Amino acid sequence: MPANILLVEDEPAIQELIAFNLSQAGHHVMRADSAESAQNIVRNALPDLILLDWMLPGMTGIDFAKKLRAEERTRQIPLIMLTARSDEQDKVIGLETGADDYITKPFSPRELQARIKAVLRRRAPQITDDTVEVQGLRLDPATHRVTGNGDTIDLGPTEFRLLHFFMTHPERVHSRAQLLDHVWGDHVFVEERTVDVHIRRLRSALESTSFDRLIQTVRGTGYRLSAHNN
Ligand code: CA
Repeated sequence: MPANILLVEDEPAIQELIAFNLSQAGHHVMRADSAESAQNIVRNALPDLILLDWMLPGMTGIDFAKKLRAEERTRQIPLIMLTARSDEQDKVIGLETGADDYITKPFSPRELQARIKAVLRRRAPQITDDTVEVQGLRLDPATHRVTGNGDTIDLGPTEFRLLHFFMTHPERVHSRAQLLDHVWGDHVFVEERTVDVHIRRLRSALESTSFDRLIQTVRGTGYRLSAHNN
């Protein structure tokens, strides 16, 4: 499951090593050597996960984590803190800021991979390769196949990602801005109307299997996937 990972680490050698390992594992890595430059990256596009060093020049990792958690737009970004401290008390502080996990340096690439995978599976199931199914509508991210009661459904890449996001977050209402952030990865440069266009395409692709009924408009709020009527 390749993810867009933002790595915030000020020590060049460690940054290089982690970035190398993550790219080897198929992830796309964006790098920042301070919380301030990480902030600029996040402002443009939301990463799938942030690896955040605790000790940074300028704003600390802890303060940056608090900032991310305080803002509506960035609150949900999966976050793993990297630190040289192994103190229990520090671990508690790290998790209290809203970090999903915590890794103490030095760590093996394998451990990092495992932690990333676990956090993504829990917090961002739409980017994992697990097959999802809702009432006979089945989506397999590994083979990029969608079937409705066994019949193949052809979807464009955006509709596929949109459906994957809906299926991994069922019954919840998502605003257009939230869908842009999670499916397009960016809410700044894409118009909200774009969402409506792709919802329309998704529904029409699902129509032949009548699963279009799952994609519901919630007036004034956004869209949701629901197995229930209303
Ligand atoms: Ca550091």
